[in-house]
Amino acid sequence: MSIDLNGRLALVTGASRGIGYFLSLELAKRGAHVIAVARTVGGLEELDDEIRALGGSATLVPLDLTDMPGIDRLGGSIHERWGKLDILVANAGVLGTIAPLGHVEAKTFEKVMNVNVTGTWRLIRSVDPLLRQSDAGRAIVLSSGVAHSARAFWAPYAASKAAIEVMARSWAEETRNMKLRVNSVNPGATRTAMRAQAVPGEDPETLPHPRDVAVKIVALADPALDVTGQLFDVRQGRFLNYRLPD
Ligand code: NDP
Repeated sequence: MSIDLNGRLALVTGASRGIGYFLSLELAKRGAHVIAVARTVGGLEELDDEIRALGGSATLVPLDLTDMPGIDRLGGSIHERWGKLDILVANAGVLGTIAPLGHVEAKTFEKVMNVNVTGTWRLIRSVDPLLRQSDAGRAIVLSSGVAHSARAFWAPYAASKAAIEVMARSWAEETRNMKLRVNSVNPGATRTAMRAQAVPGEDPETLPHPRDVAVKIVALADPALDVTGQLFDVRQGRFLNYRLPD
């Protein structure tokens, strides 16, 4: 709990459940005001209640990350109300279907790419100027181990995660000389709805709770962090540098 986020403004996508929900709580516990984005209003309200019970505060933004004009407007709204953003957690994502690549339906592939890649990019574009204005801007992009290890039947999701991870690294290079720090994170298998959809036969009790995963990821929001353009692996508890020599 040594990270002090008092006075910090954090935007978390996919805050209605799973990893994003608990990450929002961890950020609020450390003093950040959380802008919580997702489609499910009930989940956001539950989060709001929990944050208030901790003595924190949140702003709820029901938004579908396929609503590109809505994402574009979000940056402007944050600018008008707060004039800056300190922390972005690009966490929302969808799995699509686990199926042989040749059997994936076009609409499923497009949805995975739309939410995980295009929506994430569009959000980055919307808030990038605000993050650059912060004296300790931090961006955390949720990736996955499958972006690195080929797994049969997971191709669209894996490709989307590889795409946003490389996008995050490119963004980190663009901002290397600024105060913004951009890193990806592989949370590892975590007890959430997405994992249950991906591996239905698995006993969820064997997996880490998203609360425990969130406690580790929140370290990437630390104003004192001086790492950018890397992948943090939660299970190993360290940054992995996948960069090949130029
Ligand atoms: P969940 O399915 O539990 O939660 C996903 C979140 O994303 C929900 O809050 C959901 O909110 C939001 N979301 C999905 N689609 C949209 C949309 N169109 N617009 C806005 N929000 C949306 O997933 P996890 O918590 O498991 O995953 C969080 C992140 O971690 C994801 O990026 C995932 O790829 C990654 N990850 C997870 C792993 C795991 O084992 N759980 C392992 C590796 C990576 P709502 O439906 O209310 O809109």
